Amino acid sequence: MNRLVCPVDQTNLVLSKTAGEESSKCPECDGVWLTLETLGTLEDKAANADMVKGQRQYGKHEVDHDCPHCAKNMIRFRYRGYNLEIESCPTDAGFWLDKNEEREIRDVMKKRASNLARASSAEQSWHNARRGVKISLLQRIKQLFGIN
Ligand SMILES: [Zn+2]
Ligand SMILES: [Zn+2]
Repeated sequence: MNRLVCPVDQTNLVLSKTAGEESSKCPECDGVWLTLETLGTLEDKAANADMVKGQRQYGKHEVDHDCPHCAKNMIRFRYRGYNLEIESCPTDAGFWLDKNEEREIRDVMKKRASNLARASSAEQSWHNARRGVKISLLQRIKQLFGIN
């Protein structure tokens, strides 16, 4: 298996398995590399239909970071219209989330949590039963980063 390096500081990434999903983490900057497969798995487990509907990438532009997968310039984009920018391999082999983005995920999480608090519990259990899942994508990402 090829050794993956951080697109920001070229440190070797360390394999980690958190919340049952495989990811590669940079010990230097705490960025995280997710494969398309892992992101897909997380999205499949998302409890809310609005998270998985529609386009994944908005406002795409090329950045001067080498992809850990193919060493080509990565593409930066807004994730599903959230105020959350992540970078992807130009061939969609994987996705990079840096430390700042982790903070943005926290903000998204907070908004998400207050929205969920307003939703009736009946509606929630209906959603969960219908989709056969009990956990949202962002909760999964939260677990992945070990944010409580
Ligand atoms: Zn790094
Ligand atoms: Zn690549």
